[in-house]
Amino acid sequence: MAQPPFTRYPTLEALHLGSAFAQLPAQFHTRLAPTPLPEPHPVGISPDAAALLGLAPQACEHPEFAQVFAGNRLLPGAEPLAAVYSGHQFGVWAGQLGDGRAHLLGEVETDAGPLEIQLKGAGPTPYSRFADGRAVLRSSIREFLASEAMAALGVPTTRALCVIGSDAPVQRETWETAAVVTRLAPSFVRFGSFEHWHALDRQVELRLLADHVIDRCRPALRESSQPYAALLGDVARRTGEMVAHWQAVGFMHGVMNTDNMSILGLTLDYGPFGFMEAFDAGHICNHSDHYGRYSYRAQPRVAHWNLYALGDALMPLVGPPQAVREIIDGHFIPALETTFLRLMRAKLGLRIAADGDAEFIDQTFGLLQANRPDYTTFFRALSHLPGGVETASAERPRIDAPVRDQFADRARCDAWLVQWRARLAQEGSVDGDRQAAMRLANPKYVLRNWVAESAIRRAREGDFGGVAEVLDCLRRPFEEQPEYERYAAPPPDWAAGLAVSCSS
Ligand code: AMP
Ligand code: MG
Repeated sequence: MAQPPFTRYPTLEALHLGSAFAQLPAQFHTRLAPTPLPEPHPVGISPDAAALLGLAPQACEHPEFAQVFAGNRLLPGAEPLAAVYSGHQFGVWAGQLGDGRAHLLGEVETDAGPLEIQLKGAGPTPYSRFADGRAVLRSSIREFLASEAMAALGVPTTRALCVIGSDAPVQRETWETAAVVTRLAPSFVRFGSFEHWHALDRQVELRLLADHVIDRCRPALRESSQPYAALLGDVARRTGEMVAHWQAVGFMHGVMNTDNMSILGLTLDYGPFGFMEAFDAGHICNHSDHYGRYSYRAQPRVAHWNLYALGDALMPLVGPPQAVREIIDGHFIPALETTFLRLMRAKLGLRIAADGDAEFIDQTFGLLQANRPDYTTFFRALSHLPGGVETASAERPRIDAPVRDQFADRARCDAWLVQWRARLAQEGSVDGDRQAAMRLANPKYVLRNWVAESAIRRAREGDFGGVAEVLDCLRRPFEEQPEYERYAAPPPDWAAGLAVSCSS
């Protein structure tokens, strides 16, 4: 009988790693050990990510835990390495990049397939170029919390097991301290991993890499008469689904370079990301993105562009440009559109698809754009409103206050609510059921910048309670959780000017 996952590895020593990626030929990676981090201490641990690995809770509390996930002690079977890749950054070919501050330790076999363990910030590698191979506490906490929050929101993402901190100084704009975040994913192969071999005109390696991804992570694609074309179709579809989730939840990645795009369609490399607050489709969350290449509204078309860059790289395996284009368009566009429609219908409380839904969703975004309410708060408040309220009712302003008070133009909000209620009536919507369903589609809690920042400020003072609380809250983003009510609030005054950039 299969053991419950959390008892599979009662101790860290029991966590014996495989090394499938390390078995690829030497040109794919550089084997090297992490650089030890002095006096490491746990800053945050995700029990959900530990359970994915099959790691018992007591193993996470063991003093060795910080040593292992700082990179100071190797897990049995670990063959640490940094992988090579290239990519397009801000639309421009950047040449070779690679894991400049990430060490892949190996993988654990889980019921859901392999799960690779990667340390980010564990010291320099041959791909570090002029940088130090480290990550600061601030960005590590942000990546840790975001990974786990996105997973709980149902968005495809890499996971994060823990953040391990240290007093080791690291220089960015100011002096900060170093941390290591442990990430988990079936594979960390990127679009740029394929672009790398294509740019060098190395078709043998290109094929080996595609075979590796298919055999390890997408074995069903082997059944296809054209497995490489199937892989491209698979990643195009999944990328469309992923971006639809981003748009629906109001997530902005911030640096959608092709080296930050996962071949598995997972949200990867959390840096200057953001969640939409006052709605603005043109919002740019990354202050280093001067032209808004990665603004909220640009994300679907940038993902499409990135898929063409991947398709270009895979052409030797897949076929001529026209075939590649048809595969990408034929998978990405319908996946994006149908997933986005499905998610937005759910957010609006609509169970049944009807003609005109796409237009109504457009109108909803138009309303939000004109009035800029807080995106998360708007939909959550909408989830509480009753349906059948007479348009002529004098009670309407009072009943609708939680939503309409978020709008400067209340008349336009009222008109939109009339339309919304008409659409609910059209499908015979029943309030209690609909409101409950809407609360499962409209999170109360997302990782607001100011919430992350408040946890970071406490952590810098040596108080990791904020990280634990925010994680605890964001594990259940759809629940009310009165004890965390404060985390649902829009930014307080002190956070008005918070800026995030590529500095991490
Ligand atoms: P990013 O924009 O963070 O995805 O990083 C782009 C490239 O820069 C990747 O090759 C990273 O490994 C590398 N990189 C970023 N920060 C550092 C750092 N502090 N040390 C070494 N390499 C880094
Ligand atoms: Mg990156």
